[in-house]
Amino acid sequence: MHKKKTICPLDCPDACSVIATVDGGLITRLDGDPEHPFTQGFLCKKVRTYHHRVQSDDRILFPQKRVGRKGDGRFERISWDDALDAVADGLLKAEQEHGSEAVWPYFYAGTMGLVMRDGIHRLRHVKRYSGQHSTICVTMAWNGYIAGTGRLAGPDPREMAKSDLVVIWGTNPVNTQINVMTHAILARKERGAKIVTIDTYRTGTAAQADLFLCVKPGTDAALACAVMHVLFRDGKALGPDDLCRRMLPGFFVALGMMLGPEVVEEYQEKLRVVVERVRGDGTTVFNWDDVYKDPTAKTLALNAEVDVAMHFDEFEKRSNWFINMVNGHLTPNEPGAHANLAGWELSETGFKRFLHSLMGDLRAQLDTDSGKMAITKKYGGSTCADLFDIIAHTSQE
Ligand code: SF4
Repeated sequence: MHKKKTICPLDCPDACSVIATVDGGLITRLDGDPEHPFTQGFLCKKVRTYHHRVQSDDRILFPQKRVGRKGDGRFERISWDDALDAVADGLLKAEQEHGSEAVWPYFYAGTMGLVMRDGIHRLRHVKRYSGQHSTICVTMAWNGYIAGTGRLAGPDPREMAKSDLVVIWGTNPVNTQINVMTHAILARKERGAKIVTIDTYRTGTAAQADLFLCVKPGTDAALACAVMHVLFRDGKALGPDDLCRRMLPGFFVALGMMLGPEVVEEYQEKLRVVVERVRGDGTTVFNWDDVYKDPTAKTLALNAEVDVAMHFDEFEKRSNWFINMVNGHLTPNEPGAHANLAGWELSETGFKRFLHSLMGDLRAQLDTDSGKMAITKKYGGSTCADLFDIIAHTSQE
């Protein structure tokens, strides 16, 4: 009998680290890895007994072909060669009759890792199958998340254990993602943290919460807006403006040093012209949509982003320099400002997020073939390749 380290194969964000006890080639037991900082020795019920499923006599081990009508439930065993031929014939027939884009690789995750899941892209590309997004399953949620936060990322889940308030919104980890509860309960035990659950029905997680808010389906956004309103109204939230104000002096010092005072002055002058044109009627209220619609403003923003991005071609060295520059020039905390501002400093992660937001137009440009061509034409192929590299750095945390 021996123990092997492995990982949970299910499509679950916890990605638990698993210790499998193996005896005579069979798994006899599955446990959470006690040394893993997130798993901490716990597996959910589904996976603690997963070996019974993997080794079950009921498991289908060979290709089965339906005989009779759909729904009759009658199948016969066929060879792997016959099964592969049947699939290949179907794909070739669709391609020949309707063109290669008639084949749409529609898939998502399930019980497989990234390589198994995304390996199908090789076939998709080589056969020129449809490039339509692989699933409609999570697309709505992802796009909503990106629209709200700018990118598909979240904080380190271990930070839950260091929180004073854990809000579990629209998910039921007691039954489906047990280690969220491990860390939430740790925060409650060690810090007296409160657990709030928001859902449309009383779940197992709601039963363990200090406060359960049962919303009607579709009213989450109203609740989120109300919470934001109260936080900002009562000075309980750090607004991005507060942070920006503290960062600005260092940012402008760094910008001046990166680009040189003449270039900064040139940009300022051009921007002044754009501002005057956008304001037109002399109004002091500024509509950002109008700014983005102005072609000169757009080109200016893009040029400035390229200039700034190219300063980070030696990413590690330059980013440390930039962080030091900002933190060395933070404006003092204003009296009465949010207490969290007092010890605030720009971190490496914060810097990457900052640069990632700053490069938004450039990223969008490089995301399209025509945009890529325009950048290559203007700045050359090697600059374009460098820009990809720099943008990739700002996407890693
Ligand atoms: S919580 Fe369960 S399903 Fe999720 S990763 Fe851990 S063992 Fe797998």
